Amino acid sequence: MLFSSLNIIEPILKAVEEEGYTTPTPIQEQSIPVILHGTDLLGCAQTGTGKTAAFAIPVLQLLRETQSNERKRKIRSLILTPTRELAIQIGDSFKAYGRHTGITNTVVFGGVSQNPQTAALRGNIDVLIATPGRLLDLINQKFISLGNIEIFVLDEADRMLDMGFIHDVKKIIALLPRKRQTLFFSATMPGEIVKLADTILYKPEKVAVNPVSSTVDIVNQMVYFVDKGNKNALLLDILKDEKIKTALVFTRTKHGADKVVKVLLKNNIKAEAIHGNKAQNARQRALANFKAQTTRVLVATDIAARGIDVDDLEYVINFEMSNIAETYVHRIGRTGRAGAKGTAISFCDAEEKAYLRDVEKLIAKKIKVIDNHAYPLMDHNPVKAPKQQRPPRRNKQEQEKQKSNTANVNKTKQKPANSRQNNPVSKPSDSGKKANYGKQMILKKRGTL
Ligand code: AMP
Repeated sequence: MLFSSLNIIEPILKAVEEEGYTTPTPIQEQSIPVILHGTDLLGCAQTGTGKTAAFAIPVLQLLRETQSNERKRKIRSLILTPTRELAIQIGDSFKAYGRHTGITNTVVFGGVSQNPQTAALRGNIDVLIATPGRLLDLINQKFISLGNIEIFVLDEADRMLDMGFIHDVKKIIALLPRKRQTLFFSATMPGEIVKLADTILYKPEKVAVNPVSSTVDIVNQMVYFVDKGNKNALLLDILKDEKIKTALVFTRTKHGADKVVKVLLKNNIKAEAIHGNKAQNARQRALANFKAQTTRVLVATDIAARGIDVDDLEYVINFEMSNIAETYVHRIGRTGRAGAKGTAISFCDAEEKAYLRDVEKLIAKKIKVIDNHAYPLMDHNPVKAPKQQRPPRRNKQEQEKQKSNTANVNKTKQKPANSRQNNPVSKPSDSGKKANYGKQMILKKRGTL
């Protein structure tokens, strides 16, 4: 099937062509006619399936076909999405597909100053893309009214629930006109999401695509067993391959991400980290540099990577395995987008083997093991740092005895008369403080304080 057989108007068809798309993805093929017909939609699809264009194209078309000549335009479509990164990407998509339509959009999200956003809202805006918290803020400050919304899109509803936004979402829905078209997208359908969909959709058409299995099938996956201490060296070794123009590397922690970036920079590989401790501007800059391929390696934590959408990203490297198997599928879903090629490389140390087993169970296939590499796993049973021994519990009598002994010892150890008591200006030295603290801790542990 071609886009041209979906009854899409010329200005949008032209833009889609300019984007380089020829055939619609399954979610687009199924959703576009339903939405153009004015029917509510319940879409079960994940990022990476072409979902954004599946709603952006028909929304643009419907707005364009009913556009009035009023001087001051009102916001007619609201797209609610959970993360800033997704909001920005959706805004970019509306701009790209709508570039010949005259339909305008703006994006609002938290974590940055609201002033540029409120300035943009003073202009003529047809489509508003927003995250829930900032949207409610701006509504409360009367910068935004939802009274003229004709098409409402709720994107990634299940993530809204995961991220604790569901109450904000419900508050926003209560402010929408009752007469409207609603498009509801979610990758999974837990009970609470089904309930929400039931309350806000009117006779919806259901459209489902199964991205998990398709991503898993498209992406070439491999695992390197390697000792924890050799992961940096292995990463450098793999990045010697010039075929790898860019790679998205996942770590479990923010600290871990920073450490990997340090190692790469030291070895003259351009790298940046993207995680929750970075300011929004820094994150956006890092993402833009990565998309422009001026940064070769982007190191991300799972939360920060939500919604990262980079065309032609071929390599994802799991520097650390996640302890949640579904996260693996989300991570590798960053590559192999819309049928493109993708490679996912996982580093697995001895302690992470159980996580790998969980992943293989979830995706119902064995991941290819790369044996002949420079840093094979040697330490199959790494010795964990020994836990501090707790002193044995004493009975009450013994504890009392110990208490009185300690009290006596403390009495005899009292400072001489020329100490602090006689010299109120002098403070205990730092080392003195530490020693004292140490002593107190020991006594506390023994149950004598
Ligand atoms: P999404 O699921 O909306 O995040 O889209 C995933 C990726 O697929 C984005 O990078 C889009 O640019 C790309 N894409 C969307 N639709 C098509 C299409 N019909 N053909 C090729 N690529 C597409």
